[in-house]
Amino acid sequence: MSLRYFGFAKTVLIALVLATTPLFAINIILNQYAERRAVSELEAMGNVTIRRAEEAISTTVSLLQRLDRDDIQSCNAEDRVIYEKQIVEHGMIDAIGLADATGQRMCIIPDRELSEQVILPPAKVDGPLVGIGMLDRSYLGARAAVISWDLKDQTRIFAEVTPAVIATDPGPEYLRSYRRAELRLGNNLLWYNVGGYNSQASDPGDMLSVEVASELYPLSVTLTVPNAAAAFLVQDLKVIAAAGCAGIALLFVAIGVWLSWRPESEANDEFVAAIRNGEFIPFYQPVMDIETGRLRGCEVLMRWRRPNGVIVSPGQFMAYAENNGHIFDMTRHMMRVSSEEVGELYGENPDFKLSINLFAGHFLDREIISDINSIFEKSRISFQQIVVEVTERHPLQDMELARKIIAELQALGVRVALDDVGTGHGGMAYLQKLGVDIIKIDKMFVDTIGSDDNSTTIVDSMVELADNLGMGIIAEGVELEEQIERLLELGVTAAQGYYFAQPMAADEFIEFAERMEEKAREKARLAAEAAAAEQAANEAAMSSAA
Ligand code: C2E
Ligand code: CA
Ligand code: CA
Repeated sequence: MSLRYFGFAKTVLIALVLATTPLFAINIILNQYAERRAVSELEAMGNVTIRRAEEAISTTVSLLQRLDRDDIQSCNAEDRVIYEKQIVEHGMIDAIGLADATGQRMCIIPDRELSEQVILPPAKVDGPLVGIGMLDRSYLGARAAVISWDLKDQTRIFAEVTPAVIATDPGPEYLRSYRRAELRLGNNLLWYNVGGYNSQASDPGDMLSVEVASELYPLSVTLTVPNAAAAFLVQDLKVIAAAGCAGIALLFVAIGVWLSWRPESEANDEFVAAIRNGEFIPFYQPVMDIETGRLRGCEVLMRWRRPNGVIVSPGQFMAYAENNGHIFDMTRHMMRVSSEEVGELYGENPDFKLSINLFAGHFLDREIISDINSIFEKSRISFQQIVVEVTERHPLQDMELARKIIAELQALGVRVALDDVGTGHGGMAYLQKLGVDIIKIDKMFVDTIGSDDNSTTIVDSMVELADNLGMGIIAEGVELEEQIERLLELGVTAAQGYYFAQPMAADEFIEFAERMEEKAREKARLAAEAAAAEQAANEAAMSSAA
């Protein structure tokens, strides 16, 4: 039985592990997927941004080149009209102007303060024709890229490009309010940044970041998004995965429950095989006459001798055997084997009693009577030598039938003992109703006699009752010499317990019985000798007196 619960707990555990392990794995996979997705979305956003910036720069450069080609490269009124027209036509161009070789502004359309502000690096003779720079336009609260084109006389025509045209691609919904974009020019000049309002001060370890650079210009965009934002993408999938795994766990548990019956049936198969292989064997515990020190017989106690030699006590398997009905076969086996093993000893000692333990189920069916009949009929052990023990620990379901079965056994000559008296259900009522021949006082009471007045009173009243009903008494679990003394005082004459011997295998028990008989013969011989000596002494005294 314990095997089954162990098996069950184990399968539930395995089911949980089997179901949660994929959940962990799925979570990891989903997170990785979310990251990959977010990274490729960021890359796409970065590409769009770079392409727009490149377009803006290229368009501006070609415009400036065209103006140069068309010889529109002065600050005069005629050219200024054309610049104005171009600004209106090209939404991304905020202003067009000219700068001299030192980079000082010569004019700008639309007109701003005409102070000669340096807005470009000094012109280099062999430098590139196209220049890209950055201009703080504090008055607009933004920065502008300044694209310049070298004219022949070291002056440069330039245009200011507004960042608004490059407005970063907003990207997918789930990243939108978390992503931050930074467009940089050349040596880390920030041109444009947007977003990231919800992700300031985030730990860079928790951020996904992508950088896309232009192949045409010194332009790059960095896009970042918190990992957590990426995880939104797979949130629903995670819920589904968790639900799925919970379902799988349930399925596994169900399978586990189903499977856990198999170890049970396997355990049962093992048990049945053990019965068939004769692994259940009788041990014998002597019952002593404490008045004379002679052996009265024994109680047969079952043991499971495993193939590896380990001896298992009935506490480990008896309940299982009873619940599964195996106990009937096992009891028959016990009786058969003991009739063979100690038959000769019992044939030679007709006073010896052999106690067989029965359980409540045996008193629901007359089969036990025919079993005893058929087994001991052919044996050297007579029915008169047999005692069947019925425990008081477990209730008898059908008292009337039990009483009849007991009566029929008694009619055969078999004696019936009530085991574990005082510990169980029946109490004194069982004694009278069942008509038992012997009561066995449980170790529990024997343990306390001498030390506990109450218990002495209980044993006292058991002895008195047994005497009144004409029943015999056996004290169980005697371990100490003083217990024997107290039992004798109380009028108990039969006892079993470790004080005399533990339950043992047949050959040991037969030796034990021979040793006891030898001792008894020796004692009798000594007593006879003493008596003879005393008589001789008496006779000598008489004759000398005479
Ligand atoms: P039980 O019938 O009350 O048997 C007495 C138990 O007390 C035995 O345990 C015995 O070994 C133990 N015992 C005897 N003297 C002493 C002692 O001085 N000190 C201590 N501490 N223990 C002592 P065991 O052999 O383990 O059997 C346990 C129970 O299993 C038995 O209790 C009996 O109820 C059941 N049982 C044993 N064999 C059979 C059987 O063949 N059939 C049935 N139905 N039950 C059996
Ligand atoms: Ca017993
Ligand atoms: Ca007992």
